[in-house]
Amino acid sequence: MSDILHRQTLSAIGRRLYRKGFVAGTDGNLSCRLDSDKILITASGTALGFLAEGDFVVLNPAGEILTGRKAPSSEYLMHLAVYRARHDVMACCHAHPPFATARATAGKGLPSGILPEIVAFVGDIPLADYAPPGTEAVPKSVAGYLADHQAFLLRSHGVLTIGRNMEEAYNRMEAVEHYAKIIYIADHSGGAIPLEEEEIQRLREIGRSLKSGQLTDDKENNS
Ligand SMILES: [Zn+2]
Repeated sequence: MSDILHRQTLSAIGRRLYRKGFVAGTDGNLSCRLDSDKILITASGTALGFLAEGDFVVLNPAGEILTGRKAPSSEYLMHLAVYRARHDVMACCHAHPPFATARATAGKGLPSGILPEIVAFVGDIPLADYAPPGTEAVPKSVAGYLADHQAFLLRSHGVLTIGRNMEEAYNRMEAVEHYAKIIYIADHSGGAIPLEEEEIQRLREIGRSLKSGQLTDDKENNS
């Protein structure tokens, strides 16, 4: 995919995030890997719902600007840390969706083993310790979770999701927010009851099969 197509994809995902109310003003940032040495990321101070062609920066893995006239997103260190840690990850999505972010501000995290599709397709969603946005503390706060997770609550801040492409990273953001909303309602309806452990293990196995690219009948039945 050419650089211009990647910019168009990030712009389209930015519009979806804005329309869904997952970002306000200049919140949030998006990135994708162009190749092993180039990361395309939204520029600092840009509104994700209204990205223009010049609102992007190309960085090398050291964080140096290769192309672009603006500064990269203030969270570029978090994005670069993800790409360093996970060679399978091709895109990162960071936003502040209200239900999931509210959960992160309450320091509660999201429970495991409640909804089958979250167990299989997103996995456990850890709550990273608070780190001031835009600092080196942000990548440090998620470092311990990166190897085994696809979505992260950032305490008192927002949500980070990652994926094999921008669409997958975005879909995980939408899934996390929808899940946080369901948990909020369940908390006011007597509380969500976890699935049986055996079923959780079966769903995790489906998730692992999907990761290795083997679609099973189970997945198709569950989707
Ligand atoms: Zn943020």
